[in-house]
Amino acid sequence: MTLIFASANKNKILEIEALIPKHHRVIGLQEVGIFDDIPETGTTLTQNSFLKANYVLNFLKQKNLTLSVFADDSGLEVEALNGEPGVYSARYAGIQKNDAANNTKLLQQLNGKTNRAARFVTVITFILNGQIHYFEGEIKGSITTQCFGNDGFGYDPLFIPQGYTQTFAQMDATTKNTISHRAIAVKKLIEFISTV
Ligand code: IMP
Repeated sequence: MTLIFASANKNKILEIEALIPKHHRVIGLQEVGIFDDIPETGTTLTQNSFLKANYVLNFLKQKNLTLSVFADDSGLEVEALNGEPGVYSARYAGIQKNDAANNTKLLQQLNGKTNRAARFVTVITFILNGQIHYFEGEIKGSITTQCFGNDGFGYDPLFIPQGYTQTFAQMDATTKNTISHRAIAVKKLIEFISTV
């Protein structure tokens, strides 16, 4: 099956290609000719992942192409902050989407708080033959009191997954990409695809 992945992020496309069995083909946005920033105006991860997948589907329909499309949206939910930054994770410290500023803000918001519990969540929307399917992945963990590690992106230097002693930014990419929220959601998508 050829799957259009509604992302322009080359690292994400490579990460997902590595997870999906080789007889399927994953194509990113630029390969289908979409160079716009797809608006993410939803208030939940589910809404935003749907908006992205649906945008691509409509683009393809205009070209009389009917292909399968999926999109993901992820975020960090912190218990002591009532689920913030959640759907606004990328823009937590402002629209410039700056990882370092987001991490600084998160540490400030949690200053003095003993409950450091958090989870990363990914929601994938998959549209196949006009039917919409959702797949969710989560990984629970805790937020450190300072940044540790240089790898990864986003909140990786502040997040220690449950059962581990290192942050995502201290782990090798293979370990992170095996246990992450995104990997769990993608595995559910793959299981589904293998049944259709
Ligand atoms: P996206 O939907 O995958 O682009 O994720 C939105 C935002 O959530 C990112 O810009 C990061 O701030 C945060 N985020 C999502 N996944 C991760 C992760 O695996 N590590 C660290 N931060 C993440």
